[in-house]
Amino acid sequence: MIIIDGSEGEGGGQIVRNACALSLVTGLPFRITNVRGKRAKPGLMRQHVTAIEAACAIGNARCEGLAVGSGEIAFTPGTVVPGDYRFAVGTAGSTGLVLQTVLMPLVLAAAPSRLVLEGGTHNMLAPPFEFIAECFLPVLGRMGPRVTARLVRHGFYPRGGGRIEVDIAPAPLVPINADDRGALVARSGIAMIAGLPHEIADREIAAARKGLDWPGDAFAVHALPESSGPGNILLLTAAFANVSEIVSGFGKLGVPAEQLAFKAAARMAGYLESSAFAGPYLADQLMLPFVLAGGGSFTTVKPSQHCLTAADIVAAFTGRRPEFTRLASGAHRISFG
Ligand code: ATP
Repeated sequence: MIIIDGSEGEGGGQIVRNACALSLVTGLPFRITNVRGKRAKPGLMRQHVTAIEAACAIGNARCEGLAVGSGEIAFTPGTVVPGDYRFAVGTAGSTGLVLQTVLMPLVLAAAPSRLVLEGGTHNMLAPPFEFIAECFLPVLGRMGPRVTARLVRHGFYPRGGGRIEVDIAPAPLVPINADDRGALVARSGIAMIAGLPHEIADREIAAARKGLDWPGDAFAVHALPESSGPGNILLLTAAFANVSEIVSGFGKLGVPAEQLAFKAAARMAGYLESSAFAGPYLADQLMLPFVLAGGGSFTTVKPSQHCLTAADIVAAFTGRRPEFTRLASGAHRISFG
């Protein structure tokens, strides 16, 4: 039994999701004590419970201590059965984070799967749908598996009610070297707005334009039907030949439109200045596929705490630790295998 102290490293929900995924792939059981020990409100939240339930459903696994607020869980994996599954996060909890939990086991299964995930599609502190579809899945596709995701209905935090559908064509994961992002091919700044004054989106675009030296026609407002709202997110996308980066600013009450747009623009400018392949979020999300491919490497900006903690969890399950090297350019290379 692998024992993990959930208060170590990043100390949040990602430890739980990564452990479930690795357990289903390796067949190794685990126990996590001090679940989400570094959070103000430790223990499992609704969305983590749904993610673990999803892991149990696809992997015929058992989990002791599975309840909202639980500080300790023991997970015993079974056999992964590909197929059609529907998982609903009861709240606006992120559909993307449920996907993170079950994707690798299903990608490595013997037959295709189809997932319907209901809940939040655009949440703070979670990958927005566009990030999954345009940043993460294309890199995974280069490693072999074909995974396509469709946004059927937006679900903005806190209301939720969104729906995504994911088709998974499994394939062995092939190591790739993703050191170079390639040439810039497109950039866009989209302010999405639903059931809120249009003026909020206009102010976000105006502020983002001040922070980024991008042509005016790169920016646009996407007004969604009122029934999708209330919701607002600014998505700044830089598409390179080999990878795309999306920086998002999530609109919420009390945060001025200009403030979130300036912050997002500054983060995008930072990524553009570096030569790295993966931005900070993509980096932690690529850890599992690269580990399971058993080789390859990618470059990233300064590795985040999420990334370093993912490396610890990977080491606990596989006995192998990805290697982090600082390059002369200031970027970092993470090598596997
Ligand atoms: P908690 O931290 O409260 O335990 P959690 O389980 O929701 O919460 P984290 O452990 O922080 O979440 O993990 C969040 C995941 O979402 C990480 O994989 C991170 O890369 C991803 N993520 C967060 N914000 C963004 C963003 N703006 N764009 C893309 N991915 C994001």
